Amino acid sequence: MSIYYNPIIETMPRAELEALQVRKLKELIAHLGNSRFYAEQFKEMGLGPESVHSLADLRKFRFTTKKHLRDAYPYGLLAVSKDECVRLHASSGTTGMATVILHTQEDIDHWADLMARSLYAAGVRRSDILQNTSGYGMFTGGLGIHYGSERLGCLTVPAGAGNTERQIKFMFDFGVTVAHIIPSYALYMASYLEKHGIDPKTLPLRIAVIGAEPHTEETRRKVEKLLDVKAYNSYGLSEMNGPGVAFECVHQTGMHLWEDAYIAEIIDPETGEPMPDGEVGELVLTTLDRRGMPLLRYRTRDLTRFIPGQCACGRTHRRIDRVLGRADDMLIIKGVNVYPMQIEQVLMSIEEVGENYVIEIYNDGIMDDLRVKVEVMSNHFVEDMRALRSLQQRITAKLKNEILFTPKVELVQHNSLPVSEGKAKRVVDLR
Ligand code: AMP
Ligand code: ZN
Repeated sequence: MSIYYNPIIETMPRAELEALQVRKLKELIAHLGNSRFYAEQFKEMGLGPESVHSLADLRKFRFTTKKHLRDAYPYGLLAVSKDECVRLHASSGTTGMATVILHTQEDIDHWADLMARSLYAAGVRRSDILQNTSGYGMFTGGLGIHYGSERLGCLTVPAGAGNTERQIKFMFDFGVTVAHIIPSYALYMASYLEKHGIDPKTLPLRIAVIGAEPHTEETRRKVEKLLDVKAYNSYGLSEMNGPGVAFECVHQTGMHLWEDAYIAEIIDPETGEPMPDGEVGELVLTTLDRRGMPLLRYRTRDLTRFIPGQCACGRTHRRIDRVLGRADDMLIIKGVNVYPMQIEQVLMSIEEVGENYVIEIYNDGIMDDLRVKVEVMSNHFVEDMRALRSLQQRITAKLKNEILFTPKVELVQHNSLPVSEGKAKRVVDLR
């Protein structure tokens, strides 16, 4: 059995892959002439398909931003008539008002293919039984993963979000081998198993596909250990369909970004100029396979970098590193730039720390400060004040080492912090 879902595309030599991108980009620019938004822009700038000869020519075109999507809400960016569309999705609105994307039947088919290819890269096969624990609403992690799993031929269990007891019962009853689960919920499920004395080794699960929210390598390892699975990172966003944009292969060394379907750029978020290869910047994506609502040079606000070199799996599509966070996530406290992921990285490397934490930003009357509330595993939450105090000091020192100032650290009992259904809310601004 091949290790690739689509060997020709996945292992296409770079030169051929880039030629394919240029050809598709030319077609895209021609098609975008049907979108009022882009047509006006192209006219004003004197650009058209004939302006594209190489990938570098993409930079002649302007960026598309979330603001453009909001201003055009809901149908303003369509490149086909609404009648041709069969599906509408909206972003979960991680930041602000929702944005809407419409798909034609062809778009949905392409997306399902990409998703099947992604799952396959992570080692999922048609003999697997896949349980999808994402909500089946507007959030693309529901239907997106679902269609991909069916396309691959997996028996698919559309469990939806929440009700952990039922999720676990399904896993046992149906012999579920693959779970699609966001990392914060995977950790919650692990703590549920622990609390109910269920040995994760007795679960039939072998793979967890985790994504949809930023998480660290330490969190991945924790999920793997606590659920006794291999966990693979999955990246996507509604504006780019949803899941299936970039996915880890079994080597777990970054996510292959499917370059036959997207052109990826990494830019300096301040200047818009390309970052030197391998350096962290904002990911910008152009859709190559979409007809309903294609987007040109869309600024994702997600910070990542291309991982240099080739992957051992033989796929030629470049890999991106795990997302550090969003450009708008950066906190400036005491004049220092802090990303929430730096804090998570420290916390999840400490054995006594449980699954949940919250970062609070508050003002003490003079300046902004950080308070980190950390759950401690039950077996470590002893009555011994001295032991707790020393744990708190250890966490504080490690955090200081990473973020360069001393945050307040508060230890709380296991399972005492609120859990959100859907993506975790880790930062609370109390200012
Ligand atoms: P939505 O379109 O509402 O599903 O949200 C998409 C956003 O979720 C992305 O722009 C990222 O900020 C975040 N996201 C999705 N997948 C990942 C991932 N694997 N790692 C980190 N962040 C992710
Ligand atoms: Zn690989």
